[in-house]
Amino acid sequence: AGTTQARDYVTNVYEAVKRRNPNEEEYLQAVKEIFESLVPVLTAYPAYMKYGILERLTEPERFITFRVPWVDDSGNVQVNRGFRVQFNSALGPYKGGLRFHPSVNGSIIKFLGFEQIFKNSLTGQSIGGGKGGADFDPKGKSDVEIMRFCQSFMTELYRHIGPDTDVPAGDIGVGAREIGYLFGQYKRIRGTVESGVLTGKGLRYGGSLTRKEATGFGTIYFVQEMLKDKALDFSGRTIIVSGSGNVSIYAMEKAIELGAKVVACSDSNGFIYDEKGINVETVKQLKEAGNERIYAYLDQHPHAQYVDDCSSIWSIPCDIALPCATQNEIDEATAKTLVANGVKAVGEGANMPSTLEAINVFLDNDVLFAPAKAANAGGVAVSALEMAQNSGKLSWTFEEVDAKLQEIMKSIYQNSKQAAKDYGHPGNLVDGANIAGFIKVADAMVEQGII
Ligand code: GLU
Repeated sequence: AGTTQARDYVTNVYEAVKRRNPNEEEYLQAVKEIFESLVPVLTAYPAYMKYGILERLTEPERFITFRVPWVDDSGNVQVNRGFRVQFNSALGPYKGGLRFHPSVNGSIIKFLGFEQIFKNSLTGQSIGGGKGGADFDPKGKSDVEIMRFCQSFMTELYRHIGPDTDVPAGDIGVGAREIGYLFGQYKRIRGTVESGVLTGKGLRYGGSLTRKEATGFGTIYFVQEMLKDKALDFSGRTIIVSGSGNVSIYAMEKAIELGAKVVACSDSNGFIYDEKGINVETVKQLKEAGNERIYAYLDQHPHAQYVDDCSSIWSIPCDIALPCATQNEIDEATAKTLVANGVKAVGEGANMPSTLEAINVFLDNDVLFAPAKAANAGGVAVSALEMAQNSGKLSWTFEEVDAKLQEIMKSIYQNSKQAAKDYGHPGNLVDGANIAGFIKVADAMVEQGII
């Protein structure tokens, strides 16, 4: 009876979320994935239903949209839409990145903010969930245009954020350069230096060592734990890593350090295949030089191949697939191809890179699957370490931060594994991560009353 009641509750709340957020496909996908994991928890703790936890969790505490006007290099006025979702503060100040990409809309910001609640909970740190961004396309923009855009964006955002309120960071299209411009403008408006208001800052003004590497390294540390449980490791494995941004670069670097051979990576246009193993230094150099196209890799490594279709990267056989580009890059058909080609493990470095159908293909075929919320939590975990250093006016060494990151990723793995076991789905880390992340937030919400 308890299970039926929990199932009905989940169905009813999901229908209500759907009615309230029509056509928000990405957001509904993220909600559905969480909800499907929670029936055993709600059955065990019916009080969560009485306290309206799912109704409250799925409605952001605040959802802000704003105009971002700026003047381009030709003197034309441009207008973009800025967003910040302050989704849930049960565990602490809202925390989550900013994404600048033309695809950004309310649904994408909400899916990212919703995922961030559980991811942040999994890190074990006191941070709530938030996310933001703009439908601004940084591609092809001059440095000065980027600066003007960031300044205009912050001229509105500043009133909503603060070191103990809401702490943005980077995501797709927002790296150290953008964080620098955003930080400069925040400081100028506020007239005081509040270092902890943004994370991912430059090392000269309050940034943390290892933040840049954290998401990619963290994904590898998580997958390493998952493999270790099956007496496997990275050594000698063939790996594919999609993307060529911050997450992808440091996932490749760490995987190679552990003895793996990364044969392909991509950008939004195409992918490169290097049978000798991708030279990560070259990819880094290209990105640092502001070179937006990965095919320039061939200038230095003429034996490599470039294919003009980024999604076909997954048709290359590999032992471990690490999607580190963007949401829904792996659909059901792609997952089947990977399985047919003998993939043994999948680690999600990007946010929600696999569709619900793709995840089921992996789970049904006993592929070891490390879900995004758990596997890519290293970035935000080190962001929280950056906040701690800022408030204590400390700066830890690379080794100190890296050691803390490794501990955090290990405990996320153990907690997810344990939760999966406790609630009847041993080995299913999707359910395990969702449940472990959820319980902490739900308990904090119960303790803080109906707000
Ligand atoms: N954007 C990253 C994420 O998806 C990092 C967020 C942060 O550091 O606040 O988790």
